[in-house]
Amino acid sequence: MTTEELLALHQQYMMPTPGRMTVAFVRGEGMKLWDLEGNCYTDFLAGIAVCGLGHCHPKVVAAIQEQAATIMHTSCLYLIEPQVRLAELLTSTCDLTKVFFCNSGAEANETAIKIARKYAKQQGRPTATKIISTIGSFHGRTTGALAATGQAKYQEPFAPLIPGFVHVPYGDAQAVAEQMDDTVCGVIVEPVQGESGVRVPPDGYLNDLRALCDEHDAILIFDEVQTGLGRTGYWYGYMHDGAVPDVMTLAKSLGGGFPMGAALCNERANVLRPGDHASTFGGNHLACAAGLAAVAAMKEEGLVENSKRVGDYARRRFGELATAHPRICDVRGRGLMLGIEVSDGSAQALSKKLFEARYIANAIGDSVLRILPPLTVTAEEVNGFVAALDAALA
Ligand code: PLP
Repeated sequence: MTTEELLALHQQYMMPTPGRMTVAFVRGEGMKLWDLEGNCYTDFLAGIAVCGLGHCHPKVVAAIQEQAATIMHTSCLYLIEPQVRLAELLTSTCDLTKVFFCNSGAEANETAIKIARKYAKQQGRPTATKIISTIGSFHGRTTGALAATGQAKYQEPFAPLIPGFVHVPYGDAQAVAEQMDDTVCGVIVEPVQGESGVRVPPDGYLNDLRALCDEHDAILIFDEVQTGLGRTGYWYGYMHDGAVPDVMTLAKSLGGGFPMGAALCNERANVLRPGDHASTFGGNHLACAAGLAAVAAMKEEGLVENSKRVGDYARRRFGELATAHPRICDVRGRGLMLGIEVSDGSAQALSKKLFEARYIANAIGDSVLRILPPLTVTAEEVNGFVAALDAALA
């Protein structure tokens, strides 16, 4: 089948959402992707931070193959060994102690929202239902997670969403303080905002939110769907400030490319009881075998450290590009979650030019180029990307 033929079938049978580029990748290995016509691309987007180990990591592939041939699913009515082992491994990488598995980032955030609301009720504050979120945030597209998302363009067509959310400027702890009252049950933030253009908050912001939540007995939720699992050069984005949340949500790279999500909590926020919450597929044998292999490989292969080291190098190289090309007005991010902002609205054109040079990155709006390579990326591969971007800018 050619790409043109596939496009025709796509248009005939698929809902036109989300918007798509006219390319179909049919094979992946490490940093490389091949399209239907056999062209090879170097991937600096990693399936939007999902393929943190690169494409088809051999340990993840082997774990999926073996688990698929043994048992894939029994339902959430029974004990599941790979689930417990993955929960044990995940809690060993962070400061949280209990895990609930689901299938996506949005579902993980729905879990977090339910925890915050139930916690307040359990504390004898049934009217404390307000959740403070931030402008420019992205928490998913289910109606609860969408209510938390601070972007009107995603919300407006589907209003009314679930009530009780307010949105304040990101990075501004004072704005959160002003919303804090006895109707608040939770605060939800990304340690670095991803979808709105890789926006990094001031140092200490997360600590300030921690202190505010302690003062008002509210649940602090960090959405680490994009920042988690090594992406920012730490196991979790919150570790930059050292402010520990009550609930942390994960998805994207958790399954090494296999769909899965998780909400982790501390003992205080461990309020969900049988019947409160569940997921038919969440945390089944197959997903957890993939997750177990993926997280173990991140640990064994030192990918969190690589994310910091190569991420710092990439930022330095992008900074050099900014000197040569003044239309780059900002280079920001942490680890391998990087954004390059251009002042002339050329981000889409740059990502198109990179694509023609067989490099994959992602334009957010007209002004930010987002770079999220697999955590396995090397300095040499960064050099190749920098050369392609240099040529595109020229
Ligand atoms: N939260 C954040 C920070 C995200 O970046 C995303 C997706 O991009 C989500 C939540 C939603 O995740 P999913 O698409 O798996 O529902």
